[in-house]
Formats: sequence, C-alpha cells, structure tokens
Amino acid sequence: MNKSFFRFAILLAVAIAAVAAIAFAVAPRSGSSDRTKMAVVGTFYPLAHFAEQVGGGLVTVANITPSGAEPHDYEPTAQDIEKAYAAKVFVMNGGGVDTWAERIKPDLKTKGVQVVDMQDTIALSAAPSGSETTLDPHIWLDPVLAEQEVALIRDAFVAADPTHAAAYQKNAAGYIAQLATLDAEYKTGLASCRLNDIVTSHAAFGYLAKRYGLTQIAISGLSPDAEPSVQEMVAIAKLAKKDDVKYIFFESLVSPKLSQAIATEVGAQTLSFNPLEGLSGAEVSAGKTYLTVMRDNLAKLRLALDCK
Ligand SMILES: [Zn+2]
Repeated sequence: MNKSFFRFAILLAVAIAAVAAIAFAVAPRSGSSDRTKMAVVGTFYPLAHFAEQVGGGLVTVANITPSGAEPHDYEPTAQDIEKAYAAKVFVMNGGGVDTWAERIKPDLKTKGVQVVDMQDTIALSAAPSGSETTLDPHIWLDPVLAEQEVALIRDAFVAADPTHAAAYQKNAAGYIAQLATLDAEYKTGLASCRLNDIVTSHAAFGYLAKRYGLTQIAISGLSPDAEPSVQEMVAIAKLAKKDDVKYIFFESLVSPKLSQAIATEVGAQTLSFNPLEGLSGAEVSAGKTYLTVMRDNLAKLRLALDCK
C-alpha cells in the first residue's frame, strides 16, 4: 500500500465518520436553508461549471479541485470527501484525471449519491502508447463532447430532483446552444490555416485536435508531471522545426520551463494555452469562464496556425 493511498484511506474513514455524525445531528430538522438547494459536487472546474449552468439558482455546486490547482495530482482533503458523501449528485470525469473519485464511486452509489461518471457514457480514446494512464480523460476541451456532458448532468438533476425538471431542461438547452455556437466558431476559425501542428505542454488537446483536424505534439504526457526524456525533447524540437511551428504552447497551472526550452531550440515564441483543468484566482477575478477561455484558446490557435 503506497503512502498516498494510506493517507487517502485514513481521510476517507475520518470523513465517513464525520458525515455520519453530521447526518445524525441534523436528521430531526428539515426545511433548513441548506435543504432548499440541491447539493452538487464536481471533481474539477469544467464539471462544476457545467453543473452550475444546468442548476442555475436551484443547486449549490462545490468544486473539489481548488482554483490554481490542477486535478491530475490533486489529493482530496477529509472535508472534500465529506462534501462528496453529502451531495445529492456527484459529477466526475474518469479516465485517470480524478482517480480519487473513481476510488470512492462504488461506495458513494451504495450510500445513495447519484453519480454522473462521464466515462460511463462518453467513450474515451485510448492514451498514446507510453502514457502513464490507459485512457485520455480530456473530453471537456471538445465543445461537442461538452454538450454531451451538459446533457448527462441535466438527466441526473432531473432524476434527483424531478420537481424542477423543467428548469433544468431549459437551463441545459440554453447552455448547449452556447456550446454549439462555440463549436461553429471553432469550425469556421480553423477552416483555413497554413499550419496544422500544435505543440502543447501536456497532452490535453487530443479530443479538440481530432474534432477540428489538428495534430497535437505534446511535450509532457497525459499528466503535466510526466516529464519527457532528453531524447524525447530533441525529437519534439526536430519535428516542430521540420513543420515550421512558430508558437509553442504553455499552461498557466504548469511550469513553462519545458515549453520555453523547446521554443528556444526551435526559434519559436511561447503562447499560453489553457486546458481548463482549473482557473487561477486571477482568472476567476477577471471573470473568465469555460466559454471565454475556449474563445481565448481559439484566438491563440488561429495565431499559432496562421489561419485566415
Ligand atoms: Zn490534463
């Protein structure tokens, strides 16, 4: 048993005891303000954000991965686990980006929490060979798959809280329409470009690249902390030079060092690209959301790929 799993098991035991104690303490009361809104938990930013869009004012959504952190290596606190058990609907991605959620999922279901696990319905692509996980989890960066995620959240909300079914359906339809507009903007914006390769910090853009006919060259693997070897770095730089890549992407939640090293080697510039695994405090304060960041990303893609 490794150390982090042992720590996780202790946290889980503590959290279950705490939830049981809270349930016992609040059981006789009903109709308190906490109970007027449905409690929802999302494992990281896009899932929590989509849940907010569908829930409107009818739900309270907790995002487990704190702003400024990225979900791949996030280990939940006892309080996080407590929130998961206290939720009516628990929204997770699967595919190795929120592994802690995969560990508690069976028990959450046993305890009556409605679990939306995106990987159960949306077929995940296999990870490239040599990856640290077997599946690619980054479905939220494809606007079309994001529409499917919103529909799955809507269905779970309707099942968990049928009284407000009409409101959830209306909210979901409105947001799905905005995602469809975003998809149309990507299609048009990337229709006529001189270049086709995007060199990214970690391999987050597989689904987006596939949707719009781009080729992703990732410096790290599927997880930002999977560092490449020197030989891999040299190979990436060679490929980028051969394909005349002018911009190398880096991410706000990950050190830009490797992207800068490749850019220097190739004689390219660096450009920030946001995989939406979390927003920083500054991004939240600036009013950034899934849709605004996706549009920022599109503008940068158009610059990097020299699109008309
Ligand atoms: Zn990622």
